[in-house]
Amino acid sequence: MIIEIIKGDITQIKADAIVNAANTSLLGGGGVDGAIHRKGGKAILDECIQIRNKQGGCKTGEAVITTAGNLPSKYVIHTVGPFWKNGKSLEVELLQNCYLSTLELAVRNDVKTIAFPNISTGIYKFPKKLAAEIALDIVDRFENKEQIDKIIFVCFDDENFKIYNDIIDGDFEYE
Ligand code: ADP
Repeated sequence: MIIEIIKGDITQIKADAIVNAANTSLLGGGGVDGAIHRKGGKAILDECIQIRNKQGGCKTGEAVITTAGNLPSKYVIHTVGPFWKNGKSLEVELLQNCYLSTLELAVRNDVKTIAFPNISTGIYKFPKKLAAEIALDIVDRFENKEQIDKIIFVCFDDENFKIYNDIIDGDFEYE
């Protein structure tokens, strides 16, 4: 499995799946969620509404999959990251669950290439370095990683881009 760190806009990435930092309503919001729904078009929202009708949205730490509509990728996997409160409200475990449930859903749908945004580090205020460490750690420990060819971390801001590169250049090892 290859890990790639890039700086850019996730809506432009052509991968089997891109990941959305959604909210529990699945009805769209600000940040990357807004960009994905805006550029992906109504097909994504329609499927999100169907999922809502069936299971009542998406819980924090869980993930659901829809079409990517007009986006260049095949699927959007929507996962709901935790809002950072004080670090004592299971934020770490919930963010770990986001990455893990997304990867598991990806494998179940035969997704070989997947692009992640920096979940929870925008409006949800999760500390960026800790969030990056969690993301890379969960990917590294993922038990089915031989079933995924490439994971792209798409950083939108310079700070996240630097943090990911610093961690990768440090003591993380991937095969
Ligand atoms: P959250 O509510 O999970 O914090 P945000 O969308 O506010 O979600 O932020 C998550 C991350 O996505 C932030 O690091 C933000 O800079 C980034 N982001 C915003 N727009 C885009 C985009 N078009 N492509 C990739 N990342 C984006």
